Amino acid sequence: MSDTLPPLRDLLATAVAAVGGAERPGQVEMAEAVHASIRTGDHLAVQAGTGTGKSLAYLVPAIRHAVANGSSVVISTATIALQRQLVDRDLPRVAKALKESLKRTPTFAILKGRRNYLCLHRLDGPEDEPDDQVLFDPFAISRLGREVTRLREWVSDTETGDRDELVPGVSEQAWRQVSVSARECLGASRCPMGTDCFAEKARAEAGRADIVVTNHALLAIDALQGYQVLPEHDVVIVDEAHDLVDRVTSVATGELSASMVSMASRRVGRLVEEDTADRLAECGEGLAMLLEDVPTGRLDAFPEPLRVTVTAIRDSAHQCITALGPERQADPDVVATRKLAMSMLEEVHDNAVRVLDAFGADDAHRRDVVWVTGDFGSNTPRPPTLKVAPLGVAGLLREKLFGENTTILTSATLTLGGTFDALAKQWGLPVQQSSSAKVDGMASDKEVASDHLRWTGIDVGSPFDHARSGILYTARHLPPPGRDGLPDAYLTELQSLVEAAGGRTLGLFSSMRAAKNAAAALRERTDTEILCQGDDSTSLLVKKFAENPATCLFGTLSLWQGVDVPGPSLSLVVMDRIPFPRPDDPLASARQRAVEARGGNGFLTVAATHAALLLAQGAGRLLRSMDDRGVVAILDPRLATARYGGFLRASLPPFWPTTDAEVVRAALRRLDSAAS
Ligand code: SF4
Repeated sequence: MSDTLPPLRDLLATAVAAVGGAERPGQVEMAEAVHASIRTGDHLAVQAGTGTGKSLAYLVPAIRHAVANGSSVVISTATIALQRQLVDRDLPRVAKALKESLKRTPTFAILKGRRNYLCLHRLDGPEDEPDDQVLFDPFAISRLGREVTRLREWVSDTETGDRDELVPGVSEQAWRQVSVSARECLGASRCPMGTDCFAEKARAEAGRADIVVTNHALLAIDALQGYQVLPEHDVVIVDEAHDLVDRVTSVATGELSASMVSMASRRVGRLVEEDTADRLAECGEGLAMLLEDVPTGRLDAFPEPLRVTVTAIRDSAHQCITALGPERQADPDVVATRKLAMSMLEEVHDNAVRVLDAFGADDAHRRDVVWVTGDFGSNTPRPPTLKVAPLGVAGLLREKLFGENTTILTSATLTLGGTFDALAKQWGLPVQQSSSAKVDGMASDKEVASDHLRWTGIDVGSPFDHARSGILYTARHLPPPGRDGLPDAYLTELQSLVEAAGGRTLGLFSSMRAAKNAAAALRERTDTEILCQGDDSTSLLVKKFAENPATCLFGTLSLWQGVDVPGPSLSLVVMDRIPFPRPDDPLASARQRAVEARGGNGFLTVAATHAALLLAQGAGRLLRSMDDRGVVAILDPRLATARYGGFLRASLPPFWPTTDAEVVRAALRRLDSAAS
């Protein structure tokens, strides 16, 4: 298609100059690939290392396309941090820079799910009854009251009503009192607050914008719902695409608990005959009693009493829905009360159906997995709950994301074991030729997606010289990690590395317990200040760690992906073990069994892929700017000795590898003295 706009390269150069940068080959390559993908309609996966300037590399071709065609491009992120960076920093600067070349200022807007915005009608109405968990806890009730009062005050300060702008945040329970789901919303035309509604304003603004920034959750909701949630668009750019499958899975995960059933019966109790609502309440009580005796974890077979009770819940919820009947009233308050009851009943009914259906097929054909969660021992106990989640979202993504838009996926980590295949399979894209290769003697999974979707995968590399700037140290001499916490040899190794580095250490642990034990042990053994996740808010801990080089920060999952500390405060990243999913992780273990039942390699497809992604993300914390130098130390000898070790090593940046602890300690000491 020809247009009169300046060529992409010129626009990119203008945008890069405006943000004060220099042309980078990886950025240019990526921008041209994005531009070509938009033109041809072929999907694109592009791996771009930290420092490539990838947001400009997709924003410029996206804006050019939107302006040239009068269409919208959706950009989806996993984290609020990236969303804020795009909306508050990158997009305003790029839009201003390109105004002259494009003959108008490109527009952009941010859009999230309705539940993310304060609902003025809900805020105005009567408070919802607290759920059972809060009902019997006077402290929780008073905290909830304080939070709702704060939210009522916040409404006069906020221009967007966006929950992410409320600092500090409030509990989920409090937020639910002032927000509605799409199902519960009255609709702007009927709602007395429709003209001032925050969610409606955000939707209207997004509908007019060239670029709509959203999150993976809304992208998933848009794919899962039968109606359109996002404005009309023809291109989707998924940044932080390594997280897409997990985010979509969590949106597609349903739950069923006694407190949900009880809440549904209370909500409907005022609107239907008492007996009908009471029957549902009794089923909820039955579920509460039964779940107390079911151990937490995956359910491969459905215990008969539980099956009978969930069937009764399904049928009672259906009777309540029938008794509610179609909407007749025009009074918005009556309609809102009915909608709140109906949406809860539908959720209870639909999830009961899903739970029951999950047990109908064998491992190879199962669609959903069911497990029981609950936590009685902690300070914030959670009652037992049935969870139901899809074993995969490839079919959904293939049909609703790739099938309907040109989709561009990008992240610093998209190739695992050297190819895009592992993630392509999870996304529902056909694997490329490389998938037939064997990895360390292990045949790759035989599952092959449908092949009518055309896509390209490119790696535009990284501006960092990994082999010169970083060392990958595998502690080959240590014993393999066991189940019983960190052995003394690990703590001694960790201590020697931390002392050689003079602090400056980010410790990434596979569990919170391991992080806390290591922090406690090192506090006893060294004078270095050890910050540990959970001691304070994570953002405050990261700030302290960045400001004081002689400190260490230990933690778990959110640190694996979320820490960005350039400079001398971080010269050592330590990982305690290869982060395989826990053997009792219900979803990962069920996925592994399903792949094996279809004749594939469950371990490589699920566990090793999960570990490779996290290892690469963790290792990516080390080099954040061109001058950064340091060590990634993996205290798990299996990285060097196990047959899957080659696949994992091939997923990491190409650091200089060694198993010699003395060489590593000497390098860390040199870095410490150079920085001090
Ligand atoms: S339209 Fe009304 S009910 Fe719906 S979110 Fe807006 S204020 Fe709430």
